Amino acid sequence: MKTLKIAIQKSGRLNEKSVELLKNCGLSFENYKSSLISPVSNFPLEILFLRDDDIPEYVQDGIADLGIVGENVIQETEVKVSYLQRLGFGRCSLKIAVPNTYDIKSIAELNGKSIATTYPVILGKFLKQKDIKADIRTISGSVEISPGLGLSDAICDLVSTGGTLKSNGLKPFADVMSSEAVLIGRSGSEDEELVKELIQRIQSVLRAKETKYVVLNVHKDNLKAVTALLPGVKSPSVVPLAEEDWVAVHTVIPERDFWDRISQLKQAGAQGIVVMPIEKIIL
Ligand code: ATP
Ligand code: ZN
Repeated sequence: MKTLKIAIQKSGRLNEKSVELLKNCGLSFENYKSSLISPVSNFPLEILFLRDDDIPEYVQDGIADLGIVGENVIQETEVKVSYLQRLGFGRCSLKIAVPNTYDIKSIAELNGKSIATTYPVILGKFLKQKDIKADIRTISGSVEISPGLGLSDAICDLVSTGGTLKSNGLKPFADVMSSEAVLIGRSGSEDEELVKELIQRIQSVLRAKETKYVVLNVHKDNLKAVTALLPGVKSPSVVPLAEEDWVAVHTVIPERDFWDRISQLKQAGAQGIVVMPIEKIIL
């Protein structure tokens, strides 16, 4: 039987969440920091631990079947891979930032300026689209210190909270792209049985993360009003309680409108509401 290979970041911002996702998919493997390859004992899969920059090419060239990497890296390396699933972590944006003291009003002011970045390909395309001719200075790291050192007028770098920019006296000015971690494969690999199985497991974990399991008690007279507020995977389960005319309702609620729903349920007569995390949802 074929053994799949999935490439994930060896260390850095995506490592921990990638390992957690695979473990939540029920895959059992050792996560030794020193090893490059870790076999999975209960699925025909090997995990390759690599630098994130190498992952898109490894997948394109077939050395790995799948990979978990930021969209920013895929766009920068310009490889041909297929996006199989957005993963909802590693969210950040690539932004152009300028020193706080620079009162920049329009993007056209970047004409003739120098911009330091580790993303010359993405930035180049962005500037071309906006018809701006700037001098892109490609550097390999610590981009945020370059204006302070007089190496560039502006920078283009990844930002999540903006704390690094702030502590270097910079302010974000323009959004170049937003990014999150994605599962990638070779074009056409999504048709392979093992890949399909793994995507399904990943989707069931992601779905579960977005929802909560809720159990509540309600008097029969209020049951209609309460169930009208509940979506459920199909419809809520209603279980009789020992106390006459009372029932327990079991259902799932999307995380995003959780607090709104809970207060509506209370108003409709729900009591003793218990909320639990869900591990997996298999449709
Ligand atoms: P490697 O050693 O694997 O080359 P790296 O230093 O290039 O690691 P990290 O800083 O670990 O990369 O970031 C990995 C990915 O995390 C980025 O490519 C990006 O998709 C995502 N990310 C999320 N938030 C941020 C952020 N604030 N700064 C940088 N990257 C971020
Ligand atoms: Zn990297």
